[in-house]
Amino acid sequence: MELAALLFPHVSETPDSLEARYPLRQLPEGAVVTRMAPSPTGFVHLGNLVQGLVAERMAHQSGGVLFLRVEDTDAKREVPGAVEVLIDSLKHYSICFDEGATKEGDNGIYGPYRQRQRAELYHVYAKKLVEQGMAYPCFCTEEELTAMRADQEEKKVNFGYYGSYALWRDRPIEDVKAALAEGKPWVLRFRSTGSIENQFKYNDLVKGALTITENDIDHVLLKADGIPTYHFAHAVDDHLMRTTHVVRGDEWLPSLPFHLQLFRALDFKIPKYVHIGPLMKMDGTSKRKLSKRKDPELALTYYKAAGFPVCAVYEYIMTLLNSNYEDWRKANPTADSDSFKFSYKKLNPAGALFDYAKLCDVSKNEIAKMDAQTVYALALEFAEEFDPDFALCLKRDPDFTKSILAIGRGGKKPRKDLATWQDVKPYMGFFYDEYFVSEGFGDRYEPAVIKAALEAFLEGYDPADDANVWFDKVKAVTAKIGFAADMKEYKANPDAFPGSVADVSTFIRVAVTGKTNSPDLYTVMQILGSKAVERISKTIESL
Ligand code: GLU
Repeated sequence: MELAALLFPHVSETPDSLEARYPLRQLPEGAVVTRMAPSPTGFVHLGNLVQGLVAERMAHQSGGVLFLRVEDTDAKREVPGAVEVLIDSLKHYSICFDEGATKEGDNGIYGPYRQRQRAELYHVYAKKLVEQGMAYPCFCTEEELTAMRADQEEKKVNFGYYGSYALWRDRPIEDVKAALAEGKPWVLRFRSTGSIENQFKYNDLVKGALTITENDIDHVLLKADGIPTYHFAHAVDDHLMRTTHVVRGDEWLPSLPFHLQLFRALDFKIPKYVHIGPLMKMDGTSKRKLSKRKDPELALTYYKAAGFPVCAVYEYIMTLLNSNYEDWRKANPTADSDSFKFSYKKLNPAGALFDYAKLCDVSKNEIAKMDAQTVYALALEFAEEFDPDFALCLKRDPDFTKSILAIGRGGKKPRKDLATWQDVKPYMGFFYDEYFVSEGFGDRYEPAVIKAALEAFLEGYDPADDANVWFDKVKAVTAKIGFAADMKEYKANPDAFPGSVADVSTFIRVAVTGKTNSPDLYTVMQILGSKAVERISKTIESL
């Protein structure tokens, strides 16, 4: 009692008054209350999105609450504006919070939602632990701790502040008073009663049944500046904010024994834990964790700059998390993803395997489902930010651009040319003179042959023809120059002809689009109108 008063003279509130201030939430049975609790380091990664999505689905699917708590206890790592970046990034991926820190301040009655503003609350519980003999001040200096570690290293024993190494654990109150009087800095440590000889069972919602070794370390609860460590803040915050499920990365699993101990010591109901494995990727033949240093695709900003539509990233993460999502999506192509029954039980405990090619496939499907108007709007938004010159082209004649983007859209088998908005320019840049570049015809055919084909084609070309007539004319040109107009015939006897109707189409295609691969040539020519004719004429001149 005396020690508690000595260490926390300013604390007047009690755990009971806090219990009353933060009442139990009135929610239906089974409602999940969970949170994202990021540290504002300025770097938002795909793992944040994965975690956010799991938390969001678990909360909202159960009629519960998702809130945002900013874990800013480590002022050294904090980057200005990081909270805003985080909120915006998650919102971009339709992860919206019901409660918590917002750009404008706090929203909700369980705040403050930024840990540095909660110092007084932590101190109430710190005082209680000291009163109950479960926490004590430690005045060890950095030098003493370093020497201790060296000693442990030499003796080949476990590192940490425990047992006989816990120098201040049982010090008489006089020593504490003297150290305080000298103004020595102190941290508050937990008095662990655990032993590494003991193990117990614990059930994590993702990892399953775990056998856990008790914690015997007297970990720090409050740092010298009175700010809590993650561990202590987690216990106090998730209790007072009435969190039912803690969804977090499994890098916290080693701290779980300590967290469980803390919840018990504080007499808090233990939340359910959902420890998510890291994102993995194949590196050669072995798997490894995605790394901030080596893998640009870990940063969430990467996806925007690479031009992946938000819905594609979202869909991809869903396929990563729940293996049955893909089949569900096939059966329900237009359904709102929220109507999928998400299950944390399907998460891979070892972490999901990130596969870029798969992301591209998912994205192609997503873009293929969009109508031309949507593709136009999103491609333009991307170009305005990352390729302003191209944006000007797209905007010059919106109807023209949309008619291009409409090619092969709708229908049963829509074209899947675009995986990202970056692909738009190479796909359709040739429609605009400033981006028209010819790949050339290669050297398989004599320029004279190509020229003859193009001249014959131009002679008969009538923009009023429908696609069938147009193609019949291409075939007629083919026959005229001695190539095979009938593909079957050509395939049966390729040596009998210098080429086929496919080659003649390629001549026209390269003349009109500059490329050997393009959307439907007839439609392209319809959209380009006189420009198509002009390009063919110019090509003829150059041959
Ligand atoms: N601030 C911790 C982190 O960013 C949060 C872990 C948690 O969700 O409890 O890793």
